Amino acid sequence: VKKQQKIPVALYGGRHAVTMLPGSGIGPELMAYVRDVFRYAGAPVDFETININPNTDESDDLIHAITSIKRNGVAIKGNIETKSEDTEVQSRNVAIRNELDLFINVLNCKSYPGVKCRQSNIDIVIIRQNTEGEYAMLEHESVHGVVESMKIVTQSNSERVARWAFEYAKRHGRKKVTIVHKANIMKLSDGLFLETSRRIAKEYPEIEHNDMIIDNCCMQLVSNPHQFDVMIMTNLYGSIVSNVICGLIGGAGLLSGRNYGDHYAVFEPGTRNTGTAIAGKNIANPIAMLNASVDMLEHLGHQQHADMIQQAIVKTICEDNIQTPDLGGHHSSSDVVQRVIDHIVHSDRTW
Ligand code: ADP
Ligand code: MG
Repeated sequence: VKKQQKIPVALYGGRHAVTMLPGSGIGPELMAYVRDVFRYAGAPVDFETININPNTDESDDLIHAITSIKRNGVAIKGNIETKSEDTEVQSRNVAIRNELDLFINVLNCKSYPGVKCRQSNIDIVIIRQNTEGEYAMLEHESVHGVVESMKIVTQSNSERVARWAFEYAKRHGRKKVTIVHKANIMKLSDGLFLETSRRIAKEYPEIEHNDMIIDNCCMQLVSNPHQFDVMIMTNLYGSIVSNVICGLIGGAGLLSGRNYGDHYAVFEPGTRNTGTAIAGKNIANPIAMLNASVDMLEHLGHQQHADMIQQAIVKTICEDNIQTPDLGGHHSSSDVVQRVIDHIVHSDRTW
């Protein structure tokens, strides 16, 4: 049994080097908040910032970014815009995940008691295959008017996802793992994913497992989400289910997501939005990116700094009700960040 190994990280003179990819839209402003918060928290992290120009198909920036992540082991990123009209330029977000073999995307979807939303007391972990499936980017027009798009499912990646999920469930005392699929229609591809997951599940008799077809799963999530604990699924279903759950518990601005492979870890907002329409208006919710930075600190082993920032976030949005419009509040992004910083400045540091 392959253990989940610890991902190596760059550490120079007690400080960690981390690659920062601000991305497009609201990414750059959210990264500026992360830098502010880290400065006040005294987090021992130095960022190596790499801007990727979304308007060219030049690959220099992308290669630079990937090299930097390979050197540092860890990155925090915003979403890099890919214009859907331009069919020649492939998504650089997908390219980064594939190149670094970040085969897992994890979202801890836990509701915040102080955030008004459609469902309360949600605590679901989504574990998504992150490098293949419908995101293989293998599309072509075989004859005019006929497009073929390949969905790739491999036994090895399905097995890595299932193993990761059951190990996660075991280590975190989770009770149930639900496998989400559409194997009734995509018999071979989703069939392989389902069959592999069921086989791995047998090695973990202490953890309950079931499977559910993606369409029923979406309905169940909206009507009875409390039945879910850990969920595993292929790439595209993961994207959709993440957005459904985020929608249930507070929208795109709240939750973070983690991408892992055997060698690298990349942290980002959970639903990976560009937020072009709200950029530069001081209204974007900074919490999803701040949560990503907390995940990153935990990964680097700076648990105390992570806890301090996490507590400041909870106090700000749940106790002080300092919230941006997407959560129903009337505060600006900088009001939220300023309050988080105030809490950090006033926290007792016992270390
Ligand atoms: P896409 O990645 O598809 O471009 P969008 O950027 O359009 O996604 O985001 C989807 C929706 O979520 C939009 O209404 C956007 O305003 C909202 N949204 C995304 N991120 C945030 C955020 N940090 N704060 C508030 N709203 C957000
Ligand atoms: Mg958009």
